[in-house]
Amino acid sequence: MSAHEKVNILMVDDQPGKLLSYEVILSELGENLIKANSGREALEHLLKTDVAVVLMDVSMPEIDGFELAETIRQHPRFQQTAIIFISAVHLTDIDRLKGYKYGAVDYIAVPIVPELLRAKVRVFAELYRKTRQLEQLNRELEQRVTERTEELQKRAEALQRLNAQLAERNQELDTFTYITSHDLQEPLRMVTTYVQLFAKRYKGQLDAEAEQFIHFAVEGVKRMQALLRDLLAYTRVGGQQFVLARVDSAHVLQRTLENLQARIVDAGATITYDPLPLVLADASQLGLVFQNLVSNALKFCASASPCIHISVDQEPTRCRFAIRDNGIGIAPQYAEQIFQVFQRLHTHQEYPGTGMGLAICKKIIEQHGGRIWVESALGEGSTFFFTLPMA
Ligand code: ADP
Repeated sequence: MSAHEKVNILMVDDQPGKLLSYEVILSELGENLIKANSGREALEHLLKTDVAVVLMDVSMPEIDGFELAETIRQHPRFQQTAIIFISAVHLTDIDRLKGYKYGAVDYIAVPIVPELLRAKVRVFAELYRKTRQLEQLNRELEQRVTERTEELQKRAEALQRLNAQLAERNQELDTFTYITSHDLQEPLRMVTTYVQLFAKRYKGQLDAEAEQFIHFAVEGVKRMQALLRDLLAYTRVGGQQFVLARVDSAHVLQRTLENLQARIVDAGATITYDPLPLVLADASQLGLVFQNLVSNALKFCASASPCIHISVDQEPTRCRFAIRDNGIGIAPQYAEQIFQVFQRLHTHQEYPGTGMGLAICKKIIEQHGGRIWVESALGEGSTFFFTLPMA
C-alpha cells in the first residue's frame, strides 16, 4: 500500500439519513466510504474487503453495536480493525468498558461534532495505512534477507567446493614434486660422482680453463642436489609424520642450537633466549623452523659478532615467538616475497642458499594454524615472528 492509496471506511447504521450525514462529514477525507444498513450487511462487506475503520451505531435493531464488534473481532483478519462507536444515549463507564473488551477503539457522542469525527477517522485511517506500509516493508525486507542468505549460502558452498578442489590440486602437486625431486636425485648422484671422478683423475693433466669448467660443473651439480633436497623437505611438511603434541619449545630450541654449535662458534655469535613455553606443535617441524631462522640470522650477519635473541609473548591460547638479529636487514618491500618458494634477495656467491628455508617455515607454521612474518629495515637487523597454539 502506498502513502496515497485510499483506505475503506465502513459506516454502519440502520438509519439511511444518518449514514448520509456521516458520508457528508467524511467525504472531505478522500477515502472510500462504504455504507451498511445493518450488522449483517456490515459483515458481508467486511468479508469481501479490507476495512481500515468501522464507524457504527451502538444501538441497532437487529444486532447492537457491541455484539457486532464481538463478531467482527472473532475473525482473525479484523482483530486490529479500528472501531468507532457512535452513541445517541449517554454511555456509562460500564458500557465503555464493554466496548473496549471487544477491542473497540473509540467513542463519539451525538450530536456529532463533524471536525471531531473527521479527526478521529483520519487518525485511524492514517494508522491503518502506515501499519500496512510497515508490514509491506517488513515483507520486502524479509524477502531480501532470505534472498541474500540463499545467495551467501550458495557462494559459501561454491567456495567450499573450490577450496576442496584446491586442496586436492595442492596435494597432487606436492606428490608430483615429491616424486620428481626424489627420482631426479638418482641420476644427479651419478652425474656428481662421475664429474668428481673425472676432476680427480685428470687433475693436473688439463689446462686451467678446463679445470675451471669442471669446477663449475661440480658446483652446479651440488647446488642442484641442495635444491632437490630442500624441495623434498618442502613437500614433506605436513606429511604423514605430522604429529601435534605438547612440546617444550625451550627443549626444541636447545637441540637446534646444539646442532648448529659449530656454525655458531665459527660466526662468533652470541645467542640468548627468554624462558620459552609449552606449545602444541610437531616437535621435529618446530625444530626445522628454529633451524632455518637461526641459520639465516647467522648467515645474513653484518658484523663480526652476530647477536641473536629469541623471545616470546604469551597469551592464554597462543604465543608469539620473535627471533631478532643484528644482521643486514631486509628492505620492507621484500617482507612477503622472501617467504615464497625459491625467492632470494642475493646471489649464491654473496650468500649461499636455495631460497627454500622461509617457504618451509611458512608451510610448517600455517600447518599449525599460525602465522609468520618479518619486521625489518635494510642495515637494521631483522625480527622474524611466528605464532603457535599454546599447549
Ligand atoms: P636462503 O636462506 O636459502 O636464501 P630463505 O628462504 O631462508 O632462503 O630466505 C630467503 C631470503 O630472505 C634470503 O635469501 C635473504 O635474502 C632473506 N633473509 C632471510 N633471513 C634473513 C635475515 N635474518 N636477515 C636478512 N635477510 C634474510
